[in-house]
Amino acid sequence: MSKECFCYLYSNLNLMHIPIFKGFSESIIGFEENYLKCQSCKVDTEHEILFISKYFHVYNIPLLPTSKEVHAHCLKCGMRRYNIPLEKQFFSDYENLKKKYRHPWFTYIIPGIIISLLLTFVYFEILPAPKN
Ligand SMILES: [Zn+2]
Repeated sequence: MSKECFCYLYSNLNLMHIPIFKGFSESIIGFEENYLKCQSCKVDTEHEILFISKYFHVYNIPLLPTSKEVHAHCLKCGMRRYNIPLEKQFFSDYENLKKKYRHPWFTYIIPGIIISLLLTFVYFEILPAPKN
């Protein structure tokens, strides 16, 4: 094998080792003051609550919303808690909060495109053609 040929192969192989920049990113979806049980005060106290949407991305393109989390700040004792999952066990009005704070629209672009392509495929390829 000539040196040029080897260099060509090596540079082509090296292209396959491009690191894929992926991971989880987050976006603020809301803020409110509400009552929440404080772990330090041991009772329901007023909290500043920041609602966060987490989503999976590849090269900063959002692929799929994954979870909602909350950062809470107790206004009585000042205790701050981060990344509390938005789940029934932590919030008494969970159902309302879940509807009020939704994942941002841009986290649904890629799933929307995939679903539209599948529906287009089903419409044109699987369903029988209309008879004249
Ligand atoms: Zn507290």
